[in-house]
Amino acid sequence: MAPFICIKDISKKYGNLSAVDNVSFNLDKGELFSLLGPSGCGKTTLLRILAGFETTTNGSFEIDGVNMTNVDPADRPVNIMFQNYALFPHMTVFENICYGLRRTSLSKSEINSRVEELLELVRLSGMSKRKPKTLSGGQKQRVALARALARRPKLLLLDEPLAALDKKLRSETQFELCKIQEQLGTTFIVVTHDQEEAMTLSTRIGVMNDGKLIQLGTPKEIYEQPQTTFVADFVGEISFFEAVVKERKNTHWLLQAAVPIHVSSDFNLVVGQKVKLALRPEKIMLTSKPTGKINEFQVDIVDWAFFGAGTQYRVIGPEDVKLKLYQSHNQPSQSHVPTLKTGFVNFSPEAIIILQR
Ligand code: ATP
Repeated sequence: MAPFICIKDISKKYGNLSAVDNVSFNLDKGELFSLLGPSGCGKTTLLRILAGFETTTNGSFEIDGVNMTNVDPADRPVNIMFQNYALFPHMTVFENICYGLRRTSLSKSEINSRVEELLELVRLSGMSKRKPKTLSGGQKQRVALARALARRPKLLLLDEPLAALDKKLRSETQFELCKIQEQLGTTFIVVTHDQEEAMTLSTRIGVMNDGKLIQLGTPKEIYEQPQTTFVADFVGEISFFEAVVKERKNTHWLLQAAVPIHVSSDFNLVVGQKVKLALRPEKIMLTSKPTGKINEFQVDIVDWAFFGAGTQYRVIGPEDVKLKLYQSHNQPSQSHVPTLKTGFVNFSPEAIIILQR
C-alpha cells in the first residue's frame, strides 16, 4: 500500500544555492510531523513546495497515491496556516473561517453548520461576530486554525504556528493543537525552529540542515539516539568530549578520555578507534563527595543557574573537559548548594551517546 504522504527526492535550487537538497520521507495518515532546523535550512521552502506555491527543481510529492507535483495549489487537498495568521481584519471571526468555503459547492446551511462545528472545536463558540482586532493572540491563532481546517484538507501545513504567542500561552496551545489534530485525524506538517515545540507536538520529527534532511525519528529517538553532532547539539543541551577505545570488558567498552570511561557494550567499536562521546545534562549526577560509582571524577563548578525545578551547572573536569549538567530538585538531597566550588560527577555507561563511530 502506498504511504499516505510520499515526498521523494525533492530539491529546490535558487541559482547555486540548494535551498532543499534531495529530501525524501513518507508519512502515515494522521501523523503530526515537525520539520525542525535552524533559520535558513530550507523548512519554509519545502512547505511552500508542498502547498504548491513554489516549483521544484527535482522530485515528486504524492498524497494518498495521487501525484501532486504539478497540481495547482487551489486544487490540492492541502492548506497552509501562516505564522502571522493572515486574518482579514475587516471580516468577523465567522467570515474569516468560512472565507474558503464560499467557492465550494456547499449550501449556506452546510457552511453555517461547518463553521459552528469548527468554532466549537477551537473553543470560540459565541465569538463568531467579533473582529480579529478584538481577540487575544491565542484566540487569533485558533481562528486561523479553524479557517485552515474549514475545507477539510488531507494535509495541513503550519508555518511556525505558535511563534507569535508568549511562552506560557505557547505551551498551553501546544497541547490544544495536539488535541484538535488527534480529534480530526488530519495529517499535519509543522515547521518550527523550536526544538521543545517539536518534541512536545510531534509523532515524528525531521531535522533539517543546509537543505538536507539529516535525521528522521520519534522525539525520543532524536533526543536519545542522535546520529550526528549537529542533531545532538541542535536538539537539547549536550556536552561532547573525545576518547579512544582501549579494550572490551565483559559488559562494557573501556575508553580513555581525560579519565577512563566505560560505555555500553552495545556499541560496535574497534580497539584504537577515536570516538566522540556525548552526554545529556540530566544523565550526569553531581555529588559533594565521591560515591565509588562507575564513570566518576572530580570537577570544578564554574557556573550555575537556578531554574526552580532544578539547577543547571557548568563544570570542568580533568584535561579541561567541560560538562553541562542538570540536577532536578525532586529529592531534598539534590537541592541546589550554591556554596559548592568542587564536586564529583558520575554517569552510567548507558547514558553515553557515541557519535562519528
Ligand atoms: P526560517 O526559519 O528563517 O524561516 P527556513 O529554514 O524556513 O528559515 P527557507 O526560508 O526555506 O529557510 O530558506 C532556505 C534558503 O533559501 C535560505 O538560504 C534563503 O535565503 C533561500 N531562499 C528562500 N527563498 C528564496 C528565493 N525566493 N530566492 C532566493 N533564495 C531564497
